Amino acid sequence: MSASSNTLDSQSPYIIVGAGIHGLSTAYHLALELKARGKGDGRDILVVDKTGISAGASGIACGVIRNNYFQPAMRELMAHSVKIWESDPAAFSYHPVGYMQISSESMHEDVASIHQQQQAIGYQSSFIEGAADCTAYMRGIFDDWQAQGITSVLHEKSGGYANNRKALEGLAAKAEAEGVRIVGGVTVTGFSHDNSGAVSAVETDRGNISCDYVVVAPGPWAKHFWDMLQLPSTICIKNPQSGVITSDIPMWIYWSLQEGTLGVDPKLQQTNDGKMPPVIHVDTDAPLYSDVDGSLITDKMWGIYYKPDFHFDGIQGGAAPFIVDKSADAVAVDPYGAESPEFIVGEDFANMWVSALAHCQKRFSGTMAQYKKEPSGGIGAFTPDSFPLFDRFHQNCYMIADSNHGYKMIGVGKLVAEEICGDNSRLLEPFRFSRYIEGRLHPVSNSPFPWS
Ligand SMILES: Cc1cc2nc3c(=O)[nH]c(=O)nc-3n(C[C@H](O)[C@H](O)[C@H](O)COP(=O)(O)OP(=O)(O)OC[C@H]3O[C@@H](n4cnc5c(N)ncnc54)[C@H](O)[C@@H]3O)c2cc1C
Repeated sequence: MSASSNTLDSQSPYIIVGAGIHGLSTAYHLALELKARGKGDGRDILVVDKTGISAGASGIACGVIRNNYFQPAMRELMAHSVKIWESDPAAFSYHPVGYMQISSESMHEDVASIHQQQQAIGYQSSFIEGAADCTAYMRGIFDDWQAQGITSVLHEKSGGYANNRKALEGLAAKAEAEGVRIVGGVTVTGFSHDNSGAVSAVETDRGNISCDYVVVAPGPWAKHFWDMLQLPSTICIKNPQSGVITSDIPMWIYWSLQEGTLGVDPKLQQTNDGKMPPVIHVDTDAPLYSDVDGSLITDKMWGIYYKPDFHFDGIQGGAAPFIVDKSADAVAVDPYGAESPEFIVGEDFANMWVSALAHCQKRFSGTMAQYKKEPSGGIGAFTPDSFPLFDRFHQNCYMIADSNHGYKMIGVGKLVAEEICGDNSRLLEPFRFSRYIEGRLHPVSNSPFPWS
C-alpha cells in the first residue's frame, strides 16, 4: 500500500475509516473544501484502513460507470459522479467509452422512461426501439451481433469504466498531495462517545484516536460498523401506497457478485471501425443455451455485462448476483474477495457467462476454454431496498453505505465533504435512513439486477 506513513497520531480533527473509493474521495474533496472555506486543510484529515488502499470492494470492482438507473434520484447522482470521473480521466484511469443497456420487451417501458429523463437532465443518450432497428444499430457497431428478442437499446454516450485499483491510487495521490494522511494496518474496533452521544474517539487495535468528526466508508463491512455504532439490526418500512408499516426487516443482507474474465485479446471486442467499444449490458428473456453442448441453461430472464479490459487482460464482466441465503450475522465477510473460500464464482458462472457472450456476439463462440479459472467475484452488503444510505448518526458520524453499487459514485465523497462543511446536498437527500419509516422509497424496475 502507498500510505503516507505508518505512524498513528492520538488525535485528528477528521478521521475517515476505509480507503476505498468513498473514503478516498471524501478525504480528497474534504481537504479541498476545508482549504477553500479557510477552515483547515488536508493535514486535518486521517484515513485509516485495516489493510490498505483497494483492500475492499473497490479493489475488485468491474469498474463500470453508467447513468442507466430507473430511479430519478440515482440518475441525478450518477450524472454528478460522471462529471467527476471526466474531470481527470488520466488520474482516475477512466475510459469514457460509453455504455449500452440492451433489453428484451419486458424492460422496454422502464428503459424508455430512463431515456426520457436522461434528456430532461441533459445526459446524452440515444434510444433505439423495435427488434429490426435494434439489430441494425448493434450490427453497425459489431458486425457479429446476434442476440435475439432485443427490442430496445439505450446507448449512453458518457460513462464507460475505470481501472479499479489505478483509480484509487490516483485518488489517494491527490488526497496525499493535499496533506491527507493514509495509514493502513489499523483496525477500527469501536467508537467512544461523549456525554451528548457524539463520537469523541475512534477505537482501534493501535489505540484510540480522538476526533471532532468521523466518516465511515466500510463497503461490504457496513453491517459491522452499523453494529459498532449500535444502530438497529432490524427496521420498519412504510409502504408508500398503502401506508402500512412492516416491522422487523433486517437492515443488511449480503449478495454474492458473479464476475470473471475471458482470457482473450481485449482487442477481440473492437468495434467495426477498430475502436474500443462501449460497455455492453444485456438483459433478456431469450432462452440461453450452452455454447459447449447446446443444453438449455435458462429460459428465465437473465442478464450480463462485459467490456474489454487490458488491466484484467481479457473480456471482463459479470452476471446477475444472487442473495447469500443466511442471516447477515452468520456471513463471513473476511477473508474478502478472491481470498474468500465461500464467495468466489464457480464453473456454473463460467458456463452461463461465456455462453451468454456467445449468444450476443458470434466472436465469443468456442472460447470457453479461454475462461480464466482464477478466483473472482465478491460479496456486498445491501440495504433493504438495495439503494445507498448516506446519512449522519450520533451528530458527527457520517456513514457512506452504497449498497454495493457505488464504485461509479466517485462524486458522493465531494457531496459528503460539502455536507460536513455545512451545505446540505439535494442529491444526497433521497438516501437518508428516514426514508424507510417515512415511506419515501425509490421506484422499482423490472431488471433482474438489484441495482437497476
Ligand atoms: C465483484 C464486484 C464488482 C463490482 N463492480 C462494480 C461496478 O462495475 N461498478 C460499480 O459502480 N460498483 C461495482 N461494485 C460495487 C463497488 O465495488 C462498491 O460499491 C464500492 O467499491 C464500495 O466502496 P467503499 O469505499 O464503500 O468500500 P470498500 O472499497 O470495500 O472499502 C472499505 C474499506 O474499509 C476497510 N475496513 C473494513 N473494516 C475495517 C475496520 N474494522 N477498520 C478499518 N478499516 C476497515 C477495508 O479494508 C476496505 O479497504 C462491485 C462490487 C463487487 C464486489
